[in-house]
Amino acid sequence: MSKSEIQCPCGQYIEDYSKYLLLHLKKEMGEIDILCPNEFCYLRELGFLKFHIDTTGKIKFDVGRFYAPYSTWNATRITEETTVKILKQHLVDITEKLVDWAKIRKGVFKTKEEIKEKPEVST
Ligand SMILES: [Zn+2]
Repeated sequence: MSKSEIQCPCGQYIEDYSKYLLLHLKKEMGEIDILCPNEFCYLRELGFLKFHIDTTGKIKFDVGRFYAPYSTWNATRITEETTVKILKQHLVDITEKLVDWAKIRKGVFKTKEEIKEKPEVST
């Protein structure tokens, strides 16, 4: 058994950040779900990312976390120290390489413009 392989409790191995699926549905709430790539997974949601839009329209990353069933499962397999180290790196990689921030920003600006246009039309 490989020492540093992260596995979902469903049996799916997650070699690196690129294996995860992201769910952007909660964009307006500033939340992205991190999903297991196995479509038959009974957990599905392995973690989440939270962000907010500041007054200048910039996206600020708040927090990223994996849920306990996922991290505990790996901690018992490859020790907690190794799990924390790898999962932290996964979160960094997801945030930096996997999330399409440009797309999210575009969606947010669109919403802002729509809101801005309304009062102008009424005059
Ligand atoms: Zn899974």
